[in-house]
Amino acid sequence: EVNSGGAVTKEDLGRATWTFLHTLAAQYPENPTRQQKRDVKDLMSIMTRLYPCKACAEHFKEVLKAYPVKADSGVELAQWMCQVHNVVNRSLGKSQFPCQRVDARWGELHCDEGACDLEGRLLYR
Ligand code: FAD
Repeated sequence: EVNSGGAVTKEDLGRATWTFLHTLAAQYPENPTRQQKRDVKDLMSIMTRLYPCKACAEHFKEVLKAYPVKADSGVELAQWMCQVHNVVNRSLGKSQFPCQRVDARWGELHCDEGACDLEGRLLYR
């Protein structure tokens, strides 16, 4: 449960960030442009410097070294994100998430009128 008011905990921050990252991966195109591939890699590097939990950021930097970003397709990025989240889960003593279920967990993004369509087929009005 996310707090309604009050301090944001490391756990709140983590859940919100994983929601962002898995949703981004689920919406990432099957045929990304060079710019999109570069952006994902940059975003992950920036996380290792700016994620507002210093120990988490440093740990994530090591995780990225062992598991370099794979972003050549949507499926590849979603699976890679699941894998690195599982590495973090393991280090925290949490259970492993079955990566064949990532699409069922994160694939649906609800916005009105296609407002969250990355490909921009439907423009926000
Ligand atoms: P979370 O791990 O936040 O997961 C949220 C939801 O995602 C789960 O309920 C589940 O439905 C789904 N999920 C779980 N695993 C997967 C997966 N592999 N693939 C897809 N979906 C999945 N906390 C620390 O204490 N120390 C750290 O070093 C640390 N490093 C972190 C690094 C990063 C980059 C991030 C984003 C978070 C980090 N955290 C760290 C926070 C930690 O990962 C959790 O977010 C936090 O402990 C809350 O855990 P949770 O059990 O609520 O579920």
